Amino acid sequence: MKYYIANWKADKTLPEAEDWVTDFLELLDRNEEMKNKMSANQISVLIAPPSAFLEKIGTKIKAYSGIRMCSQDVSEYEKGAYTGEVTAHSLSGLASYSIIGHSERRRFFAEDDKKLALKTKWAKAYGMEVIYCIQNPRDPIPEGVNIIAYEPVSAIGTGHNEDVSNVVAFKKKVTLPKNTIFLYGGSVNSSNIASYRSSPEIDGFLIATASQDPVEFFKILQA
Ligand code: PGA
Repeated sequence: MKYYIANWKADKTLPEAEDWVTDFLELLDRNEEMKNKMSANQISVLIAPPSAFLEKIGTKIKAYSGIRMCSQDVSEYEKGAYTGEVTAHSLSGLASYSIIGHSERRRFFAEDDKKLALKTKWAKAYGMEVIYCIQNPRDPIPEGVNIIAYEPVSAIGTGHNEDVSNVVAFKKKVTLPKNTIFLYGGSVNSSNIASYRSSPEIDGFLIATASQDPVEFFKILQA
């Protein structure tokens, strides 16, 4: 199984997000081979829209078992008097996965290991699988995480993707729990995806810039 996660970050309006899904599903519906790969669990697509759109987009993809919804983050608080927070409690039933610890959260929102461990705890408590992002082989990994994404800051949004051999070398330096799913993210696109996909060490990809366009994202699945 290979995972392809479309992380839209804080981009797209709701109409744009809906158009993306319509266009993507049209491409998918016309492609028997891709549909078969998804139903055979060879490919899993996760869509991580801004959280306000999870419900709407989730409804549109409901009939497609190979596509699941993913939150870009959850609060470190469970629920209650935290005005403005998006909690795992409020997202339960809307997202099957949550990204936690993305470098942009660590950097712009001062999320440290302690906060990230709390976020992980609540995401798991409300039934989400956590996709935990790390940048350093010694970054602590909270208990219960079984999907790790290596996201080198130098490669995120820069067009300078990390070479596959460096990604595999990084993985070897991390103490990963058994059966961990290991993902790479950083300037993955339809031109460089083939170099990673042949590696059995890499189980999938976090894709932001190249996932904004449904045609390019579909090309990545096909490449
Ligand atoms: P990118 O971002 O694909 O634009 O490099 C990856 C990410 O931030 O998850």
